[in-house]
Amino acid sequence: MKAVAVFPKSREVRVLEDAPEPRLRSPTEVRVRTLEVGVCGTDKEITAFRYGTPPDGEDFLIVGHEALGEVVEVGKGVQGLEPGDLVVPRVRRPCPHEHCPACRHGYPDFCVTGDYTERGIQKAHGFCAQFFVEDVAYLHRVPSQLRAVAVLTEPLTVAEKALREVEHLRERLPWEEKPGRAVVLGAGPVGLLGAMVLLRAGYATTVYSRSPKPNEKAEAAESFGAPYISSKEVPVEELAKRVGAVDLVYEAAGASKAAFDVLRVLGPNGSFIFTGVPGRKEPLELDGAALLKQLVLKNQLVLGTVNAADVDFEAALEDLGRFQARWPGRVERLVTARHPPEEFQKVVSGKVGGIKHVITFG
Ligand SMILES: [Zn+2]
Ligand SMILES: [Zn+2]
Repeated sequence: MKAVAVFPKSREVRVLEDAPEPRLRSPTEVRVRTLEVGVCGTDKEITAFRYGTPPDGEDFLIVGHEALGEVVEVGKGVQGLEPGDLVVPRVRRPCPHEHCPACRHGYPDFCVTGDYTERGIQKAHGFCAQFFVEDVAYLHRVPSQLRAVAVLTEPLTVAEKALREVEHLRERLPWEEKPGRAVVLGAGPVGLLGAMVLLRAGYATTVYSRSPKPNEKAEAAESFGAPYISSKEVPVEELAKRVGAVDLVYEAAGASKAAFDVLRVLGPNGSFIFTGVPGRKEPLELDGAALLKQLVLKNQLVLGTVNAADVDFEAALEDLGRFQARWPGRVERLVTARHPPEEFQKVVSGKVGGIKHVITFG
């Protein structure tokens, strides 16, 4: 079958025509025909060989972790799925260690050992291939009306997990009846999907990102009702004046300087959620004492979050339905273009512009 793979030793990215087709190995497995695979910053890191590990004993890794597929075969022990169903797979699989409480309780996203595997990233082949096989426990059934947008499920789960945590944290402010003001830092797919989740949850949400208007990310944000402000035009101090006291920052830019700049204007009792892994190193000058004083005197929370659990995938699928109803046609437009697997390298090169690029298997 056709698959897109990286060969870390020889530093090659190749479209394989004859990758071995996966077969069912246990009664609870499902064979899936891949429809679409989203490409993101993690794929860029993997194809730049800064990240990504093939399965043990193999010299290549099939990439792709944001997938939508159609069930073609189910094992005898599979319930709740049948051929023709659309499915989205989760990414991370638990580590094998008995002493990892997170993995043993079904939350490998909180794994403490680091020995987890991740499909398309860490020691397990990904989904950027004509077929994949997955245990039913890691698949989520997708309603057919979400066919055009379900490839966005995985990037949306980042925001779903963050929101789930933020809602717990809000319990420390029992007098606050409604969510307050949120700033989303970054206007890539994770940022824009995060903005939609926050708007849906009731936050007055502003998107703060580099590129000056007009641009398609700004247009997308404003089409959902989130004002877009360019950091090139409006410095952070001015941002805080325009927005008012910021209760929540959802960082989705992976740029350390911009993140710590915005942290300085987080409001009293505010929370700052980091989701971006910085791609490049940049020198950072920080007034540590002022920052510590601010965090303490303003009761602020700083939280990092990665990956997502079962419940976050279910929440994401529910939200995609809500988004379609609330902003008809807008979610679809986050997908800038669809490409054949042969164009994977062109897409990760970053020269294609736009918001989300997707590989399709016809
Ligand atoms: Zn991704
Ligand atoms: Zn673990």
